[in-house]
Amino acid sequence: MPANVSLTNVVKKFGPVNVVNDVNLEITPGEFVVLVGPSGCGKSTTLRMVAGLEHISGGTISIDGKVVNHLAPKDRGVAMVFQNYALYPHLTVRDNISFGLRLGRTPRKEIDAKVDRAASILELGPLLDRQPAELSGGQRQRVAMGRAIVRDPQVFLFDEPLSNLDAKLRTQMRTEIKRLHARLGNTVMYVTHDQLEAMTLADRIVVMRKGVIEQIGTPSELFNSPATSFVATFIGSPPMNVFPCTLTSDADRLAVNVGGDKLALPERARHAVANSKELLFGVRPEDIHLAPRDNTQAIHGHVELVEPLGGESFVHVRIGDATLIVRSEGRKLVESDKPITLHVDLQRIYLFDVATDRCVFHDTEAAS
Ligand code: ADP
Ligand code: MG
Repeated sequence: MPANVSLTNVVKKFGPVNVVNDVNLEITPGEFVVLVGPSGCGKSTTLRMVAGLEHISGGTISIDGKVVNHLAPKDRGVAMVFQNYALYPHLTVRDNISFGLRLGRTPRKEIDAKVDRAASILELGPLLDRQPAELSGGQRQRVAMGRAIVRDPQVFLFDEPLSNLDAKLRTQMRTEIKRLHARLGNTVMYVTHDQLEAMTLADRIVVMRKGVIEQIGTPSELFNSPATSFVATFIGSPPMNVFPCTLTSDADRLAVNVGGDKLALPERARHAVANSKELLFGVRPEDIHLAPRDNTQAIHGHVELVEPLGGESFVHVRIGDATLIVRSEGRKLVESDKPITLHVDLQRIYLFDVATDRCVFHDTEAAS
C-alpha cells in the first residue's frame, strides 16, 4: 500500500554546516514528488535521511504515520534506486533482483513469483540468466528497479536513476518510470538535477537551493507562478529571460523600460513594487512573439544568433545591455545580424525584487 511521507523541520549537519536546513514536506499516498535543484543543494542527503542511510540532526520523518527517525532502513518500507545501479557483478539478473528477499525468510516459491512479476513489468524476462556485464546501461537500470519492485515498498526512493544514461535512453526510461508509477501507484520521492525530468514526471516538484526548500508546487504552478527568480530561471528551457530594469511613470502611466522601449504595466503593479528598490524584469522565451497578438507590445532589438531546432528555433536578441532568448515556432528561420521587432505578451511579464529575489508582480489571472 502506498504511504504518506512527512518531513517536519528536518535538519542535517555535517560538522558545523547545515546542508539541509528546516525542511518541511508532506507527501500524500501515491504521490510522485520530485526534488530538484543544483548540485550540492541537499537533495541526496534529504532522500538518504528518508531511506535511513543518514542520521538526521534535527526534526522528524514519518512514513505511513509512524516516526522512523531511529528505524533501520530495512524496517521503513522503502526501496531505493541509485544512479550507479549498485548491482552485484557476479550474480545473474534473477539473483540480483531477488538478493534482498533471499536474505530474509521469504519462501523460494514466493521469491520466484515476485521476480517473475517484476521481470514481466520491466520486460526483463529473457535476461534473467545474464550477468550485469552482459547488459546495456538501460537494462542495468531496469534490474535495479526490479530489485526495488520485488520488495513491495510503500515508498520508492530514486536518486538520479537516469543520470548515467545517454539522452535517448533517458527519455525512454523516463516514460517507463512514469508508466511504472501509473501501474503500481506507490509513493515516489525522486531526486534529479534535471528540470525537464522533474517537469515530466512529477505530481509536485520541490525546488531546493542551498539546503532550503525554495518552492513546492505542481509543474505548471512553478512554471507559471515562480516564487523567486531562482525558480523562474531553473524551471523551463530555455530559461526565463531575467535582467535588471527600471520603472517609469510617464503621464502617470506605469511602465518598465526594456532597452529603449517601454512596456505598460497595469496600475495594480504600482502597489506591488512600492517596497522594492531594485527590480528584475522577467519574460519567458515562449511569451515573446515575432508578430503582434492580443495584449502584446513591441520592443526593438538586434538578432545576434539563431539556433535552429527544426520545428522551432531559439533566437538570441540583443536589447539594450541584455540578451533575450525568443522561442520562435515554425520552420522559417529568422535572419542573424539584423534589426528585429519583438512583441512581448504584457500578461506574462514578471518583476522580481533584487534584494529578496522574490516575485513581486505577475498577472496571476493570465498565469492560471
Ligand atoms: P545534491 O544531492 O543536491 O547534489 P548532497 O545532498 O549530496 O547534494 O550534498 C549536500 C551538501 O552536503 C554538499 O555540500 C555536500 O558536499 C555535503 N555532503 C554530503 N555528504 C557529506 C558527507 N558525508 N560529509 C560531509 N559533507 C557532505
Ligand atoms: Mg545527489
